[in-house]
Amino acid sequence: MRLMDKVCVITGGASGIGKAAALLFASEGARVAACDLSDEGLKELAIEGDGLAGAIDTYKLNVTDRDAVAKTIREIMDKYGQIDVLVNNAGIIKDALLPKMTEEQWDAVINVNLKGVFNMTQAVAPYMREKGKGSIINTSSVVGLWGNPGQSNYSATKAGVIAMAKTWAKELSHKGAQIRVNAVCPGFVMTPILETVPEKILDMMKAKTMLGRIGKPEEIAKVYLFLASDDSSYITGQVIVADGGLVM
Ligand code: NAD
Repeated sequence: MRLMDKVCVITGGASGIGKAAALLFASEGARVAACDLSDEGLKELAIEGDGLAGAIDTYKLNVTDRDAVAKTIREIMDKYGQIDVLVNNAGIIKDALLPKMTEEQWDAVINVNLKGVFNMTQAVAPYMREKGKGSIINTSSVVGLWGNPGQSNYSATKAGVIAMAKTWAKELSHKGAQIRVNAVCPGFVMTPILETVPEKILDMMKAKTMLGRIGKPEEIAKVYLFLASDDSSYITGQVIVADGGLVM
C-alpha cells in the first residue's frame, strides 16, 4: 500500500483523471477528500469507491470560491488532523482562436485553472508547513509547454501552474521542510473534457502520438500516485510529461 494513512485532497475528483486518481489512491490505502463542483459525479465516485482499502469522502466545492475553499480545508483538517497530498487537478477548457476569444472565456479558464490552484494551495500549505512534509501536484498539460491554437487562455494557465509548482517547490522547502511540488503534463487523455474537441483534431493528435493512441485517465493517475507517494521522495520542482510521445 503506497499511500497507507495518507490524507489526499484531489480537486476535480468526480470525473476523468481526478476520479481515476481518487479510486487508485483509495485502493492504495489513502483517505481521499475528493472535491468537485459536480454533485452527481461525487455521488457516483462514493459508490464506486466503497469497499476500497482506504476511504473516499466527497466535498462539493468550487475551487474559485476562496471562502468555500478555506471552509472545506478546515473541515478536512478537523476530520483527519493532517493533509499529506494535494492534487490540483480541477480544470476546464473554453477554446477559441485569438480574434474570437471573449473576456468571459478568458476569465472563466483563468479563474478555475490558475486562481483555483492558488486558492487550494494557499489554504493547504500552512498545514503541510506545520507538519514539515507533503506533496503537491499541479496538473498542467503539454499545451502549457508548447501552446496550442485556440487555447490562449488554457495554455496560459497550464504554463502558469508549472511556474507556480517551481515557485512553491522553492518557497515551501524553506528550512528543510520536505514539501515537494511537481507538475504533470498529460497529452490527450480520453475524459469528458475532450467532448467539445472535434473528432478530426483528436484523430490528428492520435496520428502525431508515438504510441498511436489517446491516453487513459488511469495512466495519468499512476503518475500522480508516484508523485504523491514516498517513491518520489527526492523529486521536487519537476515537470513530468505523460503524453505517449506526442511532443519530444
Ligand atoms: P474532466 O472534465 O473529466 O474533469 C474535470 C473535473 O473538474 C470535473 O469533474 C469538473 O466538475 C471539475 N471542475 C471544473 N471546474 C471546477 C471548479 N471550479 N471547482 C471544482 N471542480 C471543478 O477533465 P479531465 O480530463 O479529467 O481533466 C483533469 C485535469 O487534467 C484538468 O486540469 C485538465 O486541464 C488536465 N488535462 C487533461 C487532458 C485531457 O486530454 N483529458 C490533457 C491535459 C491536461
